[in-house]
Amino acid sequence: MSHVHVIGAGLAGLSAAIALTQAGHRVSLHEGGPAAGGRCRSYFDRALGCRIDNGNHLILSGNRAAMGYLDIIGARHLLGGPGVAMFPFLDIGTGERWTVSPDPGPVPWWVFRRETRVPGTKLLEYAQLLRLRGAGDTPVSEALDRRSELYRKLLEPLAVAALNTPPDAALARLLDTVVKETLMRGGRACVPLYPRVGLSETFIDPALAWLAARGGVLHVARRTTALRIADGKVAGFETTDGLIPVAPGEAVVLAVPAWIASGLLPWLTVPDAFEAIVNLHYSVDARPAGDAGQAGFLGLIGGLAEWIFIKPGIVSITISAANRLVDRSAEDLAAAVWQEMRVALDLPEPMPKVRVVKERRATFAATAAQEIRRPPARTPLSNLVLAGDWTSTGLPGTIEGAIRSGRAAADQLRLP
Ligand SMILES: Cc1cc2nc3c(=O)[nH]c(=O)nc-3n(C[C@H](O)[C@H](O)[C@H](O)COP(=O)(O)OP(=O)(O)OC[C@H]3O[C@@H](n4cnc5c(N)ncnc54)[C@H](O)[C@@H]3O)c2cc1C
Repeated sequence: MSHVHVIGAGLAGLSAAIALTQAGHRVSLHEGGPAAGGRCRSYFDRALGCRIDNGNHLILSGNRAAMGYLDIIGARHLLGGPGVAMFPFLDIGTGERWTVSPDPGPVPWWVFRRETRVPGTKLLEYAQLLRLRGAGDTPVSEALDRRSELYRKLLEPLAVAALNTPPDAALARLLDTVVKETLMRGGRACVPLYPRVGLSETFIDPALAWLAARGGVLHVARRTTALRIADGKVAGFETTDGLIPVAPGEAVVLAVPAWIASGLLPWLTVPDAFEAIVNLHYSVDARPAGDAGQAGFLGLIGGLAEWIFIKPGIVSITISAANRLVDRSAEDLAAAVWQEMRVALDLPEPMPKVRVVKERRATFAATAAQEIRRPPARTPLSNLVLAGDWTSTGLPGTIEGAIRSGRAAADQLRLP
């Protein structure tokens, strides 16, 4: 049994801590922020007078590492959603509404029937998904047929949501991995899932309780400022609480964001371009009828807003690949998106209280240039491994990627 220090208590750090605890090691988590969770967290918002998530997070039932993580910490039942694969959409320009409902099994019968296909699409258009295979370094918009109706009404919104990068730069290879693990496996792997209450209540607090029950310790507001390296090993790390020594036989998982990791390890190559996600939380009770009501969310085509999540008392909007928007004022964005919400959900004036959250470095930009900068978990230092959605997981920056990275880091540690 060894003692392992995990620096950073986001999903990657928590996932590593859980894997190491399962392997029989003792874990201490050292988190720089006031609470665990990182980019996947909930907090009380004074302006709205309620708890909100930093941003809407959606996973799919085919995200096997995320599901495994939730099963271990006993939190799968805290996810909600329609219970079947369904993705309702509205074209805000034309008013057209449709729902994509893949069949449960791997044979995509829905593609063969005109009534279940995306309206206006032809059977042959679906074959373009096969072109993602072997797409190499091609961007999504070149690998797929960007003039097709299927691209506009389904593939582009899916790609932007999954890769958080404009499709003319986003790496088709990363989309291929996501599609292979979800859409290509059929509806059973595409059931949309999101927290019934909050991100922290679902993904973070149960993990901390699980770890605490097994001797894990979490230190918050303990920011690591430097690593002390001697004889090819980490011998200690300096924190805002003082020096934490790393004894012989102990190890460290560095599970901080890419830009923090490269500050602590200047020789490390990491992604250095990022994409923002903007979320707008309106304090309003919307109860849409039909598929949006059943799913609890709605995809929007042709507007600023991309995904609308409908929760009791709150309507939350996600806009991904949002570097183009981060310099627009919150007031301006809130007013523009509110007009779309009124149409989409049939809401009355005036605009309710709103909180605009701009996560400027929400994920690394999923481009070819960034992909080659993603390091493996193992480092030249024998007792240090890396974890984070930005390490070389083969996935874009997602919950699934972060959780897999934590397990990969734990696997790579050579511990007595
Ligand atoms: C708005 C938004 C929406 C998203 N939507 C989705 C979605 O719908 N589906 C999906 O799958 N993914 C989504 N993601 C991505 C997902 O949230 C991330 O991939 C995941 O949370 C990353 O986890 P991580 O542990 O790798 O990094 P982080 O969460 O960044 O964790 C790093 C931790 O290290 C801590 N830290 C930083 N510096 C130090 C230091 N010096 N010392 C100690 N600790 C430090 C941080 O405080 C943080 O807790 C979204 C992200 C955002 C921002």
